[in-house]
Amino acid sequence: MGERGQRIGIMGGTFDPIHNGHLVAASEVADRFGLDEVVFVPTGQPWQKGRQAVTPAEDRYLMTVIATASNPRFTVSRVDIDRPGPTYTVDTLRDLRAVYGPDAELFFITGADAVEKMLSWKDAERMFELARFVGVTRPGFELSSAHLPEDAVSLVEIPAMAISSTACRARVVAGKPVWYLVPDGVVQYIAKRGLYAG
Ligand code: ATP
Ligand code: MG
Repeated sequence: MGERGQRIGIMGGTFDPIHNGHLVAASEVADRFGLDEVVFVPTGQPWQKGRQAVTPAEDRYLMTVIATASNPRFTVSRVDIDRPGPTYTVDTLRDLRAVYGPDAELFFITGADAVEKMLSWKDAERMFELARFVGVTRPGFELSSAHLPEDAVSLVEIPAMAISSTACRARVVAGKPVWYLVPDGVVQYIAKRGLYAG
């Protein structure tokens, strides 16, 4: 074992449902930054999605476990779904810092769409002390890190995966297949639980 602390990626998301775009993004960032582990953290009550109905946390958590089970470097954390109230990234980082210890290097992975709004997040300054941030591109979003602390945020281009959870839900509602957009076990879990059927 080396002297350095572990390098831990943190992939937060609603994961309603988790899809292959999330998995490719995590895999790409893990490779680029030499991460030892990527922790997927399903949100509790997302503060930005307050008005929409979100699938129960337990279902989103289980789909995330199913989707990541085969990758030895992917894990799932319950910190956000077990914390009452809306999910703020600064709380996620505090909790995971406590789990992984002071020597761990934390890399919070988030979409390019979110990166531009990061300065408006709760306790932004504290957030940038707790972790480095990696903004991943997704098709249809231009990268812009304007006004963000330069050494705290890196941008990474992900092989284009034009997949979103919104589009997956809409396909299920319309009776269209989501095979190969989400992992096989997630297709089966959605059917078994009757999620998104409307
Ligand atoms: P929704 O359509 O419900 O907003 P989503 O597909 O954006 O869902 P989230 O759970 O909101 O999924 O995403 C978690 C993180 O993954 C976000 O930072 C988001 O930008 C990123 N992400 C989602 N889809 C992709 C993709 N296809 N490629 C790269 N990053 C993605
Ligand atoms: Mg989204």
